[in-house]
Amino acid sequence: MNDVAQNSDIATIDHVTKQYPLPRNRFGRRLHLHCVEDVSLRIRVGEVLGLVGESGSGKSTLARLLLGLVPADSGRIDVAGLRVGTLRGAQLRQLRRSAQLVFQDPHAALDPRMTLQESLLAPLQQHRIGTPQERLRRVTNALAEVGLDDSFLARRPGDCSGGQLQRVVIARALLLEPQLLVCDEPVSALDASVQATILNLLVDLRRSRELSMLFISHDLRVVKFLADRVAVLYLGQVVEMATHDSLFTGALHPYTLALLDSGHGHRIDAATPDRLKGEPPSPVSPPPGCLFNTRCPLATDRCRAEQPDLVDAGEGHQVRCHRWTGSRKLLAVEESRA
Ligand code: ADP
Ligand code: MG
Repeated sequence: MNDVAQNSDIATIDHVTKQYPLPRNRFGRRLHLHCVEDVSLRIRVGEVLGLVGESGSGKSTLARLLLGLVPADSGRIDVAGLRVGTLRGAQLRQLRRSAQLVFQDPHAALDPRMTLQESLLAPLQQHRIGTPQERLRRVTNALAEVGLDDSFLARRPGDCSGGQLQRVVIARALLLEPQLLVCDEPVSALDASVQATILNLLVDLRRSRELSMLFISHDLRVVKFLADRVAVLYLGQVVEMATHDSLFTGALHPYTLALLDSGHGHRIDAATPDRLKGEPPSPVSPPPGCLFNTRCPLATDRCRAEQPDLVDAGEGHQVRCHRWTGSRKLLAVEESRA
């Protein structure tokens, strides 16, 4: 990679692993939960990288690793030119400004006792930005940017709907003028009718603000709506990564194909999709070989013994599967037999 390419990344995650030790079992052995396994990702400036995977696949942990909220066991993470995990003082404050998190539950993100004005002023006060008048102006501008008028300033979270609160949370994230917005299931807790309005707001903001985003969802439809590239996570591993079009029209991994093919409107975890039989294996004792082999209709002895690498399938499309060259055809044959 040359310098120019490196500089065009707002964030890079390089061979990052995170495990959680479990309490010792009755034989005195300590097992580990494999949460994020040797993940490498890059988010380019101005890009929305979608991250999709079933519940428990490690999406939120990856988001927290990226923001330096949990330490990695190994690997390297850079955000906005800062080496995450090594920062103190002014550099840590810089990271806290440059990268902002919006997560699922807006009620949990805001103090119910504080007015929205107080909640929105807090980050500006913490970072000592502007005079009191300037801060208030910034807050009202940020509210307007997310489609809320000044009357919200005096309200408390209890006086607002979930969708309105998620707008407030987004406004608060924007106040510090971040370069990277990490959205972890930002619409999963909202009514279907409200989801689209928040997604449209995020689309508008990424354009007007030239924001880079890591956009996380268990729902492929949601990711499809705004991701430029998509990474698919299975049991803490990236199993496929491709541009939006390559992924949605030319997916190669049997897991991604199962997700896309599901008869449930591309929802991954609400109902088990037709093709995706059974539960994912336990992250405490993942199977030998390919992690997906226990659910894969194409699994062979090799898949049960030997873990596939993430390989380049052309034009930046990456896939972790021994059988990717014929996966689409092979799955069609399996289907016709069934
Ligand atoms: P997702 O966001 O995709 O649902 P998470 O990153 O929240 O997945 O969790 C991935 C796995 O790591 C899950 O099995 C979860 O139980 C486990 N996990 C997450 N955080 C911790 C923690 N602090 N301690 C122990 N296990 C954890
Ligand atoms: Mg999560």
